[in-house]
Amino acid sequence: MEIKDIKKIVLHLHLDGSLDLDLAKRYAKEDGYNLTDEEIVKELQVDKDCHNLNDYLEKFALPSSLLQTKERLEETTYTLFKKLSMENVIYAEIRFAPIKHIEKDLSLDDVITSVIKGMEKAKDEFNILGGIILCCMRDSSKDDNIKIVNYAKKYLGKGVVAIDLAGAESIYKTKDFKYIFDMCRNLKIPYTIHAGEADGKGSINSALDFKTKRLGHGIRCIEDKDTMERIINDRILLEICPTSNFQTEAIKGKHPLEYLYNNNILISINTDNDTVSNINIEEEYRNVLNNTNLTIKDLIKCNYNSIPYLFTTDDIKNKLKEIIEKENFI
Ligand SMILES: [Zn+2]
Repeated sequence: MEIKDIKKIVLHLHLDGSLDLDLAKRYAKEDGYNLTDEEIVKELQVDKDCHNLNDYLEKFALPSSLLQTKERLEETTYTLFKKLSMENVIYAEIRFAPIKHIEKDLSLDDVITSVIKGMEKAKDEFNILGGIILCCMRDSSKDDNIKIVNYAKKYLGKGVVAIDLAGAESIYKTKDFKYIFDMCRNLKIPYTIHAGEADGKGSINSALDFKTKRLGHGIRCIEDKDTMERIINDRILLEICPTSNFQTEAIKGKHPLEYLYNNNILISINTDNDTVSNINIEEEYRNVLNNTNLTIKDLIKCNYNSIPYLFTTDDIKNKLKEIIEKENFI
């Protein structure tokens, strides 16, 4: 079996960080940006000057400013799901921060419904399933984050599947966002939390205290034995994004994904941002195979083992199980 043939599950992918380059060039021209195509690419993709998560996050400025209309949000989402389906992704949870898209005329309802519309259109046309995760932002006000959780409740089961917390982890500490996850539990909204990327065990343990079953990244658990044990014992799934981790320098040297996998930690392989990180899921899988002892069967197993953690219905989980079981990975 080849990488392109693996039926893939993508759980950690940001919409704005995966804005299609051709769409970005067109939108920038329409908006009168005086940038060459090369300059646009440079604005959107990290290069050797990226040394931390804060540098990495700078690459979201242009996509956010371009994605301020209903048509563009719908088209961008549709195009991303379409691309993923071409890469044999059978299920994808795409995340974004609605608050970043109301700088011009749109309401939060406009923003969220446009993204859902783009996803649904792609689901109708291509062989892909999935949902939308709404990100609360670490640099948002408490009022704005509460608003986003309420919108997640409003659209839960109608395209939105969960809440996330994203943004500059080293500046805005995870422990300060308990109110988001208390609220999610009260409203029965599932969630995942970015933690253990730009910050270490303190951030991860706060996220675990908030009873998350999934961590965005979580890789810095390797720095502390007790934290790692907690992740193993609580059966937490780590949404691993190797290329992004090297670019933000969350990891230097060898990536710990193989070590985590061999220590019975559940991992899912993702890209974080196809455009910002200049990667796609097939290349990400290829890098894993080239740089570790993991095999294609291991990658399939990672997808299979992530199914209970998906923010979706039992029917869809069973359907995905059936599809992946046909790949004879055991
Ligand atoms: Zn992320």
